[in-house]
Amino acid sequence: MRTLRFKISIPVICIVVGAQLVTGLFIVSQVRKAMHEENHQHGLAVAYDLAHVCARSLISRDLLELRNYIRYTMTQEYVTQAMVVDEDGRIVMHNNLARVGEKYAGTLPHPGQALFSEHYSNAAGETVIDILVPIETAGVQLGSAVISYSHIGVRNAIKALTRKIFLILSIASAFAILFAFLLAEYIVRPMKHLSKAAEKMSSGSFNIKKMDMEYSDEIGDLARSFYRMAGKLEKEVCHDPLTGLFTRNVLQIRLTEEHAQSQRLNNDFALLMLDIDHFKKVNDTYGHGVGDEVLRYIAAILQEQTRGGDCPARYGGEEFVVLLPATHRQGALHVAEKIRRSIEASSFRLPEGNKIPVTASIGVALFPEDTSDYTWLLELADQAMYEAKKKGRNCVVQASDLKKPTPGP
Ligand code: GH3
Ligand code: MG
Ligand code: MG
Repeated sequence: MRTLRFKISIPVICIVVGAQLVTGLFIVSQVRKAMHEENHQHGLAVAYDLAHVCARSLISRDLLELRNYIRYTMTQEYVTQAMVVDEDGRIVMHNNLARVGEKYAGTLPHPGQALFSEHYSNAAGETVIDILVPIETAGVQLGSAVISYSHIGVRNAIKALTRKIFLILSIASAFAILFAFLLAEYIVRPMKHLSKAAEKMSSGSFNIKKMDMEYSDEIGDLARSFYRMAGKLEKEVCHDPLTGLFTRNVLQIRLTEEHAQSQRLNNDFALLMLDIDHFKKVNDTYGHGVGDEVLRYIAAILQEQTRGGDCPARYGGEEFVVLLPATHRQGALHVAEKIRRSIEASSFRLPEGNKIPVTASIGVALFPEDTSDYTWLLELADQAMYEAKKKGRNCVVQASDLKKPTPGP
């Protein structure tokens, strides 16, 4: 799957590893060039030294001295062959004495000019090059000093260097890969978190957890804007604009959640359905503005008389529902009665000081005692509330007390 994580990390890895590879190859080629040049200069210096020291011995044909010079030359680094050739091209001295007296097969240098042969392989399979330097005295060429030097040392040194460079590059590449994945993780993690939160919100739940890490960059800006937007959206979607209580949607979600929870923990829970008595009269007598104030006043009482985990919601015009999680019958009746009494006792007061008596009728239904179908619970609470109206209002009625509750679906 081509996820964002791979879309970020793969190009970063390719670019970094590719750049390292190109740099490594460039370094190796430059070093190889420099080492070949140095080796060449070294071979040339050795050949000139030999030509210089053996001029006198060649004139006097002092073979012992020539042999010593050849021996000394052979001790120089990478020299695989050394010889002195006379002006006729005959080998006067050679590190391999068996070849003394042979005719030198190659071309001899002209006076004042060193000569280099092409690379070739010697008997040991090494790539070598011959350097021929004229042996001169007072402008007269007496013969040539010939040395062969091997490239094996340079080759080995370059091999060792290449290994080292590529080892370092491999370690650097491993870090690059790690860095690429961390970078991808740094970007993808908050994206995933926000996308999960958005998904949750789209299914109606605003119970989203904030990220555990603070980002001070564009990701942080995005997260902060997202949470601001989520907060506003939650307010609009989850809270009734007039009373600030939860909306009917939230109540439905909480009801489903509470049902799932009660199945897991074997809990009871209760619903209270509350309807303001003769509310139409309040509107008709004092106007809708005052009616709205009364609705807010009832909402404040519901907030006050319920606990943090409860869910007081505005269900309709002047109807409210309170979900009481993990509550038994006694507890539910106690809360319902407390709310009813509080509404009755406090009365709504107009700014001019006039009191408006407000009461409410409340129906109580319990899960699973009154019904094992939680979707039917609201209907039962509603029926109980209507029974309370019938009984003369300003009272609490339980669904279990209904004479003939309408059967569930
Ligand atoms: P009952 O005791 O039988 O419940 O009588 P009631 O007058 O309360 O019942 P009814 O359902 O006839 O009236 C409800 C009234 O609530 C009618 C409507 O104008 C009013 N209402 C509904 N929503 C709002 C609102 O948001 N603001 C105001 N001010 N009034 C509202
Ligand atoms: Mg009503
Ligand atoms: Mg009413």
